[in-house]
Amino acid sequence: MQQEEEAILRLTEINKTYEGAVPLHVLKGINLEIRRGELVSIMGASGSGKSTLLNILGILDNYDSGEYYLNGVLVKDLTENRAAELRNRLIGFVFQSFNLINYKNAVENVALPLFYQGVSRRKRNKLAMEQLDRMGLADRAHHLPGEMSGGQKQRVAIARALITNPSIILADEPTGALDSKTSRDVMATFRGLNEEGMTILIVTHDPGVGAQTDRVIRISDGLIVPDNEIITSSR
Ligand code: ADP
Ligand code: MG
Repeated sequence: MQQEEEAILRLTEINKTYEGAVPLHVLKGINLEIRRGELVSIMGASGSGKSTLLNILGILDNYDSGEYYLNGVLVKDLTENRAAELRNRLIGFVFQSFNLINYKNAVENVALPLFYQGVSRRKRNKLAMEQLDRMGLADRAHHLPGEMSGGQKQRVAIARALITNPSIILADEPTGALDSKTSRDVMATFRGLNEEGMTILIVTHDPGVGAQTDRVIRISDGLIVPDNEIITSSR
């Protein structure tokens, strides 16, 4: 029998203001639920707060009010150690600019999260090779990022995100630096991982990327746009 669907992420009335000479209220009461096994995109214009939201989801930044539950754990006022522990155990990140280390080859880049977990070199290189193979990049294992195409670099970054066996992948504009064909290839990679059960949340301003996910959540002016307002949004 199917288990009751369980929210892996649940946000309730999340607010975030960037303080400064002129405070900027970016998230104005975000309510959001992502279930295990979903492939979801969050779409919105540039400046609508997508990265701010993703950074909160990834425990890279704090929020001011509301509640965020990750895997049933309330993410609020955590110590930096506890935040890092949760982040490292549960979340894999993928970024627009790949964030690879240019003087390390593919297998070293993929293995890096395991280095920080104290895994032996032999074991982490073996696991990194397995992830590169899964991404179809076994023959690029000893190449530097500068010797790879954009799509290959992003697949190395996805392999790195997967190596700690996270519960969810959070991707911020993962195709933003890629041409449209490569972008489709990377989205096909995400779809394949999702079919294997991985929960994936992709933030994008590109409707073509959103269309390749199973559910599109829209953010506008710091709020989630309700589904019934999307078609008649000319207000
Ligand atoms: P998006 O990813 O949708 O383009 P962001 O979340 O990056 O949007 O930014 C939302 C708004 O918050 C923008 O107006 C941006 O300039 C502002 N902003 C983002 N990060 C900071 C920060 N660290 N300090 C102050 N303002 C910020
Ligand atoms: Mg952004």
